[in-house]
Amino acid sequence: MSDDLQRLGTRLAHAGRDRRFTGGGVNPQVQRVSTVLVEKAADLYAPGAWTYGRHGAGTHEALKLALREIEDASWCAVVSSGLLACTVPVLALASPNAHMLVTDAVYGPTRRFCSRMLSRWNCEVEYFTPDIGPGIQDLLRPETVLVFLESPGSMTFEISDTPAIAAVARAAGVPTIMDNTWAAGVFHRPLDLGVDISVQSTSKYVGGCADLLSGAIVTRNAGLGARMMETIADLGLSVTADDAYLVLRGLRSLTTRLDRHQASGFEIARWLAGRPEVRRVLHPGLETSPHHAIWKRDFTGAAGLFGVVLNPVPREGVHAFLNALKLFGLGFSYGGFESLAIHCDPQLQRTVGTVDLGGPLLRLSIGLEDPVDLRADLAAGFAAMAAAGEIGSPPGST
Ligand SMILES: *Cc1c(COP(=O)(O)O)cnc(C)c1O
Repeated sequence: MSDDLQRLGTRLAHAGRDRRFTGGGVNPQVQRVSTVLVEKAADLYAPGAWTYGRHGAGTHEALKLALREIEDASWCAVVSSGLLACTVPVLALASPNAHMLVTDAVYGPTRRFCSRMLSRWNCEVEYFTPDIGPGIQDLLRPETVLVFLESPGSMTFEISDTPAIAAVARAAGVPTIMDNTWAAGVFHRPLDLGVDISVQSTSKYVGGCADLLSGAIVTRNAGLGARMMETIADLGLSVTADDAYLVLRGLRSLTTRLDRHQASGFEIARWLAGRPEVRRVLHPGLETSPHHAIWKRDFTGAAGLFGVVLNPVPREGVHAFLNALKLFGLGFSYGGFESLAIHCDPQLQRTVGTVDLGGPLLRLSIGLEDPVDLRADLAAGFAAMAAAGEIGSPPGST
């Protein structure tokens, strides 16, 4: 494990461990609360007083302190899903008729929010290719209110030149937001690269057990934090103390798990790259990736999630492969202890570019199982794919 990751492990073991929240135990108390009782009548309206459960409780405070630690942020909010962590900053910065710049490789539901919700406010969302770099300058307008990044891109794993994009946007006074879910906030530190707001779905690596939904928003900009806090209050968003507790519990072991996801991910990705059925592996940590140089410059590691482009094969073959897997579950999401696989082609959407991968695209999330077992599972999948091809071909064909 790298020294940086080890040191973060120390900080995450202790962050937020305050007697005010723990009452003396190792972990914070789970306080289920809507009504808060105050001592005196005047306290009911005292500025800054804790008066209602929607604002969270000690469990949430402990979690926020720990989440701030990951990206050295001064402000953090927790919300009840990763999608909300993406949409809250956008809503906080949006105004009618605004112009927004969003990466064309953005997570599908974030794109849906832009096209369905924001279009009702007459906002114009303009998509840019993930490799735009400083060229984003040409797309900025006086009415541009934000630039939304996601790196690596959802499904296709392109790495953007984030420092270049952030520098151009900051010079123009336009806030930038990064969906940092893949890196779990750990392997990529967008706030260090000039990005204003970093968000992630803590349902993934932070939670780590596929048993909760939540999201985190962090920034070092107090003014932006205040604006987002207003949006959260106006929308009435809140997170249960039970969920806050589970997220914090996951956070304590995050670095150790990530180290394993990374190592196993690399091992399986390299093995797949050598398989005859595989055309390309979309993993920015592989030297063969066109995005490897920027990944190496801006990231300190890789998660266990990557894409696999197969050589052309009919859909029945892809399904036979997936249906034969026993250790890889067929399911969305990632970051949990169990490995997952999906086929992605129905999800690929682009506005400015096209995705021409040359074959069907799969996405694998490598869990905490023994990589030897995972390779055997995938090998069985390939055998089933070959068998489906033979059954599917007409008699006598080669
Ligand atoms: C999963 C995911 C989200 C949404 O998170 P939920 O917690 O499922 O709402 C947002 N962005 C990315 C990149 C994701 O992978």
